Amino acid sequence: MISHILLGPGPPGPLPVVAEPTYELQHPVAGPGAGSAADRLMLCVGCGRPFVFTASEQRFFAEKGLNVPPKRCLGCRRERKRGSGGASFSVTCSRCWRPFTVPFPPRSGASFTCETCAAGARA
Ligand SMILES: [Zn+2]
Ligand SMILES: [Zn+2]
Repeated sequence: MISHILLGPGPPGPLPVVAEPTYELQHPVAGPGAGSAADRLMLCVGCGRPFVFTASEQRFFAEKGLNVPPKRCLGCRRERKRGSGGASFSVTCSRCWRPFTVPFPPRSGASFTCETCAAGARA
């Protein structure tokens, strides 16, 4: 079977209609306070790995009045937040022997009582 191959000018048809130029999307749609909202690649000072400072995060930072981008990735920031303003030291309760954390470095030889035991001793 021979397939039909169309060569040469076809029958004169209507000229293609040139679409009217639209200017609707010329202006970037920006919300209130939104600057150049685009994902930015940052380098974490905590672990040295690159991380994405997303547009939504940037807006979140801007809403909080923070003009400085985060220096740390989400994992490192979470890690720092868990330590809430200071280091935590793991100690063992002298009464129930359960491990718990204290916000100060434990002295050697010092005995610690966890909150539960301390509350029980007081009652
Ligand atoms: Zn990190
Ligand atoms: Zn205890």
